[in-house]
Amino acid sequence: MRIISGTPKSTPLYWLPVLSNIIPPSIRRQNNLLREFKKISSNQSLPVHEVIMPVHRRLKSRSPPLVTAKRLLEEAYDGIAAWKRGWIDSAPTAWHPLLDPNSPPPGFQLPRKLRVTLNRVRTGHGRCGANLTKWGFSTNPACDCGASLQTTEHITFDCPSRAFGGTREDFLRATPEAVLWLEQLDVRL
Ligand SMILES: [Zn+2]
Repeated sequence: MRIISGTPKSTPLYWLPVLSNIIPPSIRRQNNLLREFKKISSNQSLPVHEVIMPVHRRLKSRSPPLVTAKRLLEEAYDGIAAWKRGWIDSAPTAWHPLLDPNSPPPGFQLPRKLRVTLNRVRTGHGRCGANLTKWGFSTNPACDCGASLQTTEHITFDCPSRAFGGTREDFLRATPEAVLWLEQLDVRL
């Protein structure tokens, strides 16, 4: 997911499934467990029933999948709804519309170089002076415009030398104006 979204390690994990348009692994696991449990429950002649319902368990699990599956079934688990809830709880409000389980985020079809830069602007985690200094690749966190701290946010919205004239909404929707600015940006985020 890091490779697809082009996000550096410092990017919080909740961004990755949304930017790479892949359902989070934990939710896929729950969905698969539930599907398997329903399939097995609907056919009592399967030999697996003798194994999953033993009288004496040889090894005890603190979190048996059988118990999890029953709980998920009882609470009518909906993986996509759980993903949306998690995203809304974690991501800044401006980016909430970015998660649409039915289609990839805007700008997903852009050439990789542009898509990576777009995602780094969205997350605020790019190779700006401040981050390069934090990661030990540079000793100067300042911007060439004179600002003492060159953050991704500064480059995008505040820098007098190169700031984008539009809003966050342009990066959310990947508007032609935002894409043009990404193309012409003189700093490689
Ligand atoms: Zn600057």
